[in-house]
Amino acid sequence: MTVRMLLNEDEIPRQWYNLAADLPTPLQPPLGPDGNPVTPEMLAPVFPMNLVEQEVSRERWIDIPEEVLDLLYRWRPSPLHRAKYLEAVLDTPARIYYKNESLSPAGSHKPNTAVAQAWYNKQFGVKKLATETGAGQWGSALAFACSLLGLECKVFMVRISFDQKPFRKIMMETWGANCIASPSDQTQAGREILAKHPHTPGSLGIAISEAVEAAVTDPAGETRYSLGSVLNHVVLHQTITGLESKKQLEKFGEKKVDVVIGCAGGGSNFAGLAFPFVLDKINGAEIDIIPVEPFSCPTLTAAPFVYDHGDTAKMTPLLPMFSLGHDFIPPPIHAGGLRYHGMSPLVSQTVVEGLCAPRAIHQIECYESAVLFARTEGIIIAPETSHAVAAAIQEAKKAKEEGKEKVIIFNLSGHGLMDLTGYQKYFDEELFDYALPEEDLQRSLKALEGLPKPSLAKTGRW
Ligand SMILES: *Cc1c(COP(=O)(O)O)cnc(C)c1O
Repeated sequence: MTVRMLLNEDEIPRQWYNLAADLPTPLQPPLGPDGNPVTPEMLAPVFPMNLVEQEVSRERWIDIPEEVLDLLYRWRPSPLHRAKYLEAVLDTPARIYYKNESLSPAGSHKPNTAVAQAWYNKQFGVKKLATETGAGQWGSALAFACSLLGLECKVFMVRISFDQKPFRKIMMETWGANCIASPSDQTQAGREILAKHPHTPGSLGIAISEAVEAAVTDPAGETRYSLGSVLNHVVLHQTITGLESKKQLEKFGEKKVDVVIGCAGGGSNFAGLAFPFVLDKINGAEIDIIPVEPFSCPTLTAAPFVYDHGDTAKMTPLLPMFSLGHDFIPPPIHAGGLRYHGMSPLVSQTVVEGLCAPRAIHQIECYESAVLFARTEGIIIAPETSHAVAAAIQEAKKAKEEGKEKVIIFNLSGHGLMDLTGYQKYFDEELFDYALPEEDLQRSLKALEGLPKPSLAKTGRW
């Protein structure tokens, strides 16, 4: 039996899929501080215009430039595995598949967009990219991409991860990037936060403020900002995983998929796998599509759909998304990459329209699932990815109860070889389940007061 389906290089998808072309209700625009839609010109100091064009594009298919394909061939197409050994211990009639994004040089799905973004920036004449990173996955992916293209790279890393995960910083430095802890004293935004909260663990929201400021204040005008998730163009670049998976499922002989799963931080790895299947669902297929998040940062399952800033200092436009509020400082659970206060507007809208059904899972169940996965399939997964595995196991057990031969696919977004301290804490029984208390949620949502509200009509079809 085949357990690993490969594609040849010449079978790689040559276009990205843009769900914005097919959403039942058109995506609402980002808004500026005055409440009016932001214009592409307003984004020009932050992003190169070729990526701004992708951000606002409503074209269904967007060509992947040949030179970007050349960069992607370093590790793509990635394999699609059948989780035969996991299925056996679960004794499930379900067939479980996973797209293995852990094989990229940085160890996650993130280089899929990092190399594309670095390439478009270089085309536009940009010399240096500034970014933030939580657990360090995005910072290392962008550092890798910049090293391939000869761009400078500066990474603001959330303080708590900077202290907990020194190896990610070393990876970034190996690829030639400069990585500093955020909040830092190098930006106005960082200095203001440090003055108020000198011992803050930091947050993605704060680090984004610092990176955007570093980009827009470069006196030479040669720096731009790069974001590893959330935005439309990032999600677009990730759809290569879902498009490859469809070809691979077909080669496995599957005619229908029942359940599609991804963990959701900013939403990009989930969307990358899921959006080509969301299109099938819009066209009438019956598929359960499940973004999974931690109970401690329950953006899709407990927060409202609002307009909010992507960062703490309110430098970014207002995006229509589920948000816990831009001041949200997440509790220090280990899935660092799932601790963002907001969610991709595209993913948010699929949830508002009922195309996707989000789920929250506690961290102990996630680690249990990750350990079972390591002891069956072999791969030690990232703590973020464990949310997808836990949901896949829940679904496989459900299929057993129902006696149904379901086809389940999830995105194995990354390996956990740089995150072993989380596993250690789990073995030492130092981890506990943490649900965000209602008072904390309400306090955090206060940051949304006075902001405009999205006016989105549900289609009622899903
Ligand atoms: C960053 C990261 C995530 C979460 O980010 P998304 O934008 O939601 O994909 C998930 N898994 C891994 C391994 C990551 O590095």
